[in-house]
Amino acid sequence: MLTIESLEELREQLQDWRTGGDHIAFVPTMGNLHEGHLSLVRLARAHGERVVVSIFVNPTQFAAGEDFAVYPRTLERDKRRLSRAKADVLFCPSAEEVYPYGTAQATIVHVPEIGSEFCGSARPGHFDGVTSVVMRLFAMVQPDAAVFGQKDYQQQLIIKRMVSDLNLPIQVATGPTQREEDGLAMSSRNQYLSEEERSLAPQLHQALEAIAERLHTGDRNYSQLEDAAVTRLKDAGFTPDYVGIRRAENLAAPDRDDDELVVLAAAQLGKTRLIDNVLVHI
Ligand code: AMP
Repeated sequence: MLTIESLEELREQLQDWRTGGDHIAFVPTMGNLHEGHLSLVRLARAHGERVVVSIFVNPTQFAAGEDFAVYPRTLERDKRRLSRAKADVLFCPSAEEVYPYGTAQATIVHVPEIGSEFCGSARPGHFDGVTSVVMRLFAMVQPDAAVFGQKDYQQQLIIKRMVSDLNLPIQVATGPTQREEDGLAMSSRNQYLSEEERSLAPQLHQALEAIAERLHTGDRNYSQLEDAAVTRLKDAGFTPDYVGIRRAENLAAPDRDDDELVVLAAAQLGKTRLIDNVLVHI
């Protein structure tokens, strides 16, 4: 696996491969790689002969007071994992390479509507940071395909909308959420949890599964189901940001006869913000 920091070197390498007829599949990450990320690298293999993974802890998607400064940076271990997962390139650009005019003067890509609720309202500016950096990385890598995780459900919908709206010639695929044995969605932020919080954390997924079960049995009292889950999470020691039952396709409010739903939740456990979701096909 090649580790590349400069855009110039990246472009030269990718040009060589493209000339040889290879397609480029891309997995953007913020590093501290776990099995969730590595599953996306394996999925990317199915979308291109060459797989590029980026690691860039993007300052513009963190609000003041969030964990940008302490976000776990584990480059050497990440390199070993990526090389075992058979990535072809690890691209880890500097902030100057990604934001040549600095973050304050940077062009912003804003996707309206899908980004306005849930994590969009709980973390103002977050999705603008995500879409802006993903657009920059897309322009650098110019991939044929890009792979995102279902774990960040709203994020992958927003990216798909951006790609469609801007007619970017990139096929976007979504890989399923990888979980610990007790159901907790894998996340770099799980390591912030104390031992006690870690033992409570799987209840977030359990609350979503409980809603999914009710939906399967024909219960369509969406707001009641959401409220019951919020109460359940509070009782378990979480501070919920939101629990929402929406149309899987676009996060619009569902009718009683919608059959492709997503149940999304975010909740604070101590100092750690956890998110999760489950898809429900009725
Ligand atoms: P991050 O490094 O947190 O920005 O995540 C990079 C990519 O990995 C995003 O597309 C995430 O949705 C995805 N991802 C993170 N956690 C998981 C997980 N547990 N399962 C599958 N994909 C994940």
